[in-house]
Amino acid sequence: MKTVWVINRGWGNNLFSFSKQTSNLSNENHNELLRRGVVPIGNGRSYGDSALNSGGDLLSSNNYNQIIINEATNTALVGSGVILEKLEQELLKYNLFLPVVPGTAQITIGGAIASDVHGKSHHHNGSFGDQLLKIKLLTSTCQELELFPTGEYANFFWATVGGMGLTGQILEAEIRLIKVENELISVEEQRFTNISQAIDLFDNFNKKFLYTVAWLDISGGSTGRGIISGGNHTSIVDCKKKKSEFSKSIKKLFLPKTLYFNFVSNLFIRIFNIIWYYKPKKRGLVEIRKFMHPLDAIPNWNIVYGRKGFIQYQFVIPTEQADSLQEILLILRTNKVFSFLCVLKKFGRHSKGFLSFPIEGWTMTIDISRKHPNLSQVIALLDERIIELGGRVYLAKDSFLTRKDLESMYKKLDLWIEIKKKMDPDTLWKSDQGRRLDIC
Ligand SMILES: Cc1cc2nc3c(=O)[nH]c(=O)nc-3n(C[C@H](O)[C@H](O)[C@H](O)COP(=O)(O)OP(=O)(O)OC[C@H]3O[C@@H](n4cnc5c(N)ncnc54)[C@H](O)[C@@H]3O)c2cc1C
Repeated sequence: MKTVWVINRGWGNNLFSFSKQTSNLSNENHNELLRRGVVPIGNGRSYGDSALNSGGDLLSSNNYNQIIINEATNTALVGSGVILEKLEQELLKYNLFLPVVPGTAQITIGGAIASDVHGKSHHHNGSFGDQLLKIKLLTSTCQELELFPTGEYANFFWATVGGMGLTGQILEAEIRLIKVENELISVEEQRFTNISQAIDLFDNFNKKFLYTVAWLDISGGSTGRGIISGGNHTSIVDCKKKKSEFSKSIKKLFLPKTLYFNFVSNLFIRIFNIIWYYKPKKRGLVEIRKFMHPLDAIPNWNIVYGRKGFIQYQFVIPTEQADSLQEILLILRTNKVFSFLCVLKKFGRHSKGFLSFPIEGWTMTIDISRKHPNLSQVIALLDERIIELGGRVYLAKDSFLTRKDLESMYKKLDLWIEIKKKMDPDTLWKSDQGRRLDIC
């Protein structure tokens, strides 16, 4: 087994671990591995400590990189180490696409399943786990198990989907696809001046569009205003521009490392948000990957928060608690949380994974600089309110939750723990997040 020591960071640049990295698990060094455990890792796009394992082992899935597309059934058998960007490129050659993609394409299939990721289509298509026909899992005893969403081992399947890597290493997955006529999305945007307007607009947009999302300005006096975007696939007749013109237009801009100091002040955010709010509204055709993953145009954007980094806080509250969104904005404003990334989305049905994040309701995502003087108090205040409202925080973004919070938020935690014990009796699969949450 080839082993190297590495320093790994969460995407928020605020937590790191010193661990051994390997691409193979074998029975030979099982006892040694058991001490600090092993966590499967993807492409490091989770914000907190879910893919970190201080003093232990990280298990990469880089070698699982096959993509087998079945045009007859509109499905693909994909290795867990495949990056979504590569998969999307391949699928578009066959006029196919994934029914669910998150805001970045720089994640692996393993990471997409372990976090049961959601996207702009959640109100229509559910989460990533809903698109899976089968997964192959490497267990703690080095056995390869085929798991299906229904039948004998369905509990193992739904403990793994959203299970944050703590039930085994996902090796490959068979995924349901959608047919598209081209790589263009027909987009419409509308401004709103407060959160109540946003709530009303979502009802219309979610009916009219397959993809919806809203950006909120949370930077002072106008807190709660923003822009809602909706998008649908286009048919060939709608599409006046040629495909090739759009394909060429995806460019990436790397920020220089010298920007590795925190220039994100409250004034900077305020000015940025005013410009963003008043920028011309989009209406027309946009290349699908630009629409789905706008931040990927600047691959290292996470350095703008400087050496201390940032956290991303994402919660969901039930649909009937919509009025409380205003109160949450007030908590942010009172505590001087300014952000240029605040995203609102209305989820559809509950996801089936026992630790999956989406429930039917309102989800809000906020980037917060680690330099905020009362960060942990603000997060504690938010967590408390989210629990009272019957909501939860997303584990792929979390770096603060405690076991008690987790129990209050995730009602199927006990079931998940029972299944984890069956799947991993010696507790081989461990992560820094799992230890913090006391679930491994
Ligand atoms: C810019 C940006 C936008 C984002 N937008 C969204 C969004 O819209 N919706 C959303 O849901 N998420 C979003 N995310 C979060 C991201 O999709 C998840 O954190 C995802 O899990 C990251 O995948 P990764 O391959 O980088 O995995 P890592 O970050 O390396 O690992 C994440 C988790 O997956 C586990 N894991 C990874 N590979 C395997 C495997 N082979 N087997 C078992 N477990 C494994 C790890 O143990 C860990 O618990 C976004 C992140 C960024 C940076």
